[in-house]
Amino acid sequence: MPIIADNKDWTWVLQRPCPECGFDVLACTPATAPGQLASMLPRWRAALRRPDVTERPNSDTWSVLEYACHVRDVFTLFDYRLDLMLREEGARFDDWDQDVTAVENDYANADPAEVSAELTAEGEQIAASFARVPEDQWGRTGTRSNGSEFTVLTFSQYFLHDVVHHLHDVDG
Ligand SMILES: [Zn+2]
Repeated sequence: MPIIADNKDWTWVLQRPCPECGFDVLACTPATAPGQLASMLPRWRAALRRPDVTERPNSDTWSVLEYACHVRDVFTLFDYRLDLMLREEGARFDDWDQDVTAVENDYANADPAEVSAELTAEGEQIAASFARVPEDQWGRTGTRSNGSEFTVLTFSQYFLHDVVHHLHDVDG
């Protein structure tokens, strides 16, 4: 049951509210990220306790468990990228194929309780990382392998939309 690869470029969410999840990133900054993460992590844990956590709604949509594994890995990856932007001038991000990662890390057969603990730990870690970024560093830059350019500010906005959007995906 292959997932249809989602290669859409989502950087437009930096310009206008998302029509799917309704989230508007304009009020988001690195300083708001810790509070927003603190309110979202319990919703992910609640979703992971559902009895049908491993069931896909259809063959090309991830289960709640698979989405949660993805968000856990987004936390890890974005924490690494944030650190890179703060350490290196003109940081460049390596390509990341989320669908390959899902297969390699066997998202579908993960243990929901373990994923819940890992997602919480990784989410708290990136929350702490954003909390430590002083405002005069928000303009530092990073570039994705497809050419999309971010500042620390737009990176935080892009990241927060991703987590909110996936909560919307799982109705969490
Ligand atoms: Zn959205």
